[in-house]
Amino acid sequence: MKVTDKKSARFLTIEDWTKEIPSLVAIFSAKNGGVSSGAFSSLNLGLHVKDLPEDVISNRRILAEELDAPAANFIWADQIHGADIRKVTHNECGAGTLLFENAIPETDGLWTVERNVFLALCFADCVPLFFAEPDSGFAGAAHAGWKGTVLNIAGAMVHEAEMAGTDLSKLKCYIGPSIGSCCYEVDDFVINKVKNCLGENEHKSFIKKTDLTYSLDLKEVNKQLLINAGILESNISISSLCTSCEDDLFFSHRRDQGKTGRMAAVIGWRN
Ligand SMILES: [Zn+2]
Repeated sequence: MKVTDKKSARFLTIEDWTKEIPSLVAIFSAKNGGVSSGAFSSLNLGLHVKDLPEDVISNRRILAEELDAPAANFIWADQIHGADIRKVTHNECGAGTLLFENAIPETDGLWTVERNVFLALCFADCVPLFFAEPDSGFAGAAHAGWKGTVLNIAGAMVHEAEMAGTDLSKLKCYIGPSIGSCCYEVDDFVINKVKNCLGENEHKSFIKKTDLTYSLDLKEVNKQLLINAGILESNISISSLCTSCEDDLFFSHRRDQGKTGRMAAVIGWRN
């Protein structure tokens, strides 16, 4: 995901994917070019963060227009840092778009094999995972904070893809902008969960800083989980962007001490 002007960027695309698969929409929004103000300035796409709902809905319209995708065909989820995943179809289009109460309940991963259905999840430091495979038509997105990561939502989505008839050797995964190990300090409690979910590969993903703290690379943990689930390393790409470091580009829950907006990861197939 390249950015030419960080202060004006509205969204970032996965260049390699869109070049190779023109019918695929796969983007991660930035925080600029919207109508929200204050802590939510300006392209806040989260309806659940006490921003003015009418501003968020305007921002979502801006996003849909830029993607040339119908706003009514987006599907949003009520994310709870779990590992539950839902298959969605045209029947769910519009869920959570105008009203948070109508979002797909208690779900941190969405996937579809239908065209003109755009899956949208909200982020402000957690790891966005994108999945795409044109032959089976599988498109998925998952929200992996540390909790979803150690619950292995990455592996759960790969399992869903396989059940949907996807040849795993062709499934592409993209690990999007999220808090980097540069800015992500955690304690033993989290590290022990990482060790439990990764086994022998865990040593690559964290460094001990003090007696009580570690810097954790959640992107790397997710990469290892994807490989463990059967994804070829050559089919996994990782954004180098840290949401906390990149203040001009992104909201960051940690950096902004909880009061901030949300970016969106969106994936779907054009008609
Ligand atoms: Zn950072």
